[in-house]
Amino acid sequence: MDALKILVVEDSKVTMRVLCNYLGKMGITPLMADSGAQAIDIYHREQPDIILLDAQLPDIDGFDVALKIRALEKAKDWTAIIFLTSMTKDEDLERGIEVGGDDYLLKPISEVVLKAKVKAMLRLVEMQRSLVNVTEQLNAANIMLQKLSATDGLTGIANRRMYDELAIREWRRCERMNKPLALVMIDVDHFKLFNDKYGHQVGDECLKAVAAQVGKAAPRATDLAARYGGEEFVMVLGETDTDGAKWIANRLRQQVADLNITHYATESRHVTISCGVASVVPDGNNSLEVLLKSADHALYQAKEAGRDQVGTGVYGVVK
Ligand code: GH3
Ligand code: MG
Ligand code: MG
Ligand code: MG
Repeated sequence: MDALKILVVEDSKVTMRVLCNYLGKMGITPLMADSGAQAIDIYHREQPDIILLDAQLPDIDGFDVALKIRALEKAKDWTAIIFLTSMTKDEDLERGIEVGGDDYLLKPISEVVLKAKVKAMLRLVEMQRSLVNVTEQLNAANIMLQKLSATDGLTGIANRRMYDELAIREWRRCERMNKPLALVMIDVDHFKLFNDKYGHQVGDECLKAVAAQVGKAAPRATDLAARYGGEEFVMVLGETDTDGAKWIANRLRQQVADLNITHYATESRHVTISCGVASVVPDGNNSLEVLLKSADHALYQAKEAGRDQVGTGVYGVVK
């Protein structure tokens, strides 16, 4: 934790000297300002934790200085403002609190009261600091949790939950824009045989490598690549028709083939994928569910036709 800083704003040299003397006895060397403008300037530069603020200053009155400082304060910063005043009318004290003051000290200033108030404020400042600290840690933990709940543990790409959430959002966006939305279903060929032959761990490594390619294959900010489950992946491509989706799927198929992961049971003797694509312009009469089934049917046909290829689906044509 940084050392705590105290700023004293006081135009009377005598009062300033007395205050510095009292604070000095507490082991505190304060920052000093003798005008409102200088106080704001120092606040900017030093962000003191406590300001002892004379209510009557030669340029800007102390209340206005407090208003300005409160306006400059960032959400997580808090500066304790203690007014120094010889005004004893209730309205003046009320005004001081209203403009953002936290407490006041009556002049002439008593050493005992000053000490007690500064100590109490320092405690508050420290509590506020640790609160900010805890809040920041909580925020970081929340962001982390959100990320964890959205990503697949093995492959690090989006998970099924994320697909469910984002696909419908993209569906609605395309519906508003009257643009097609394409889905690509992806499935690793003969992956059971791969696992049986090379072991589950090698299988996991293979899935990670394939997932990395799937993730790269859908590069637009609105695209989504997710692990749908097991050795199946899905891509959501907004503003994309069947031809566009086919092109992307074929490029991905090539990139997976280029990984050159040995697989005895496929025709090419390395790991390959089959894909199914389907696309439709969303409107009130069609649905994301049927589009997914259509892409899945196209995938099934790609498997039937010999694997390592992209099947083209037609919306509504399902198993
Ligand atoms: P096809 O070409 O028709 O898709 O054949 P396939 O063997 O890939 O299809 P099938 O659905 O029968 O087998 C999928 C296999 O994927 C079964 C399972 O062992 C494997 N698998 C699913 N999830 C994981 C995983 O997280 N890690 C590993 N290593 N294997 C997985
Ligand atoms: Mg004064
Ligand atoms: Mg499968
Ligand atoms: Mg498979």
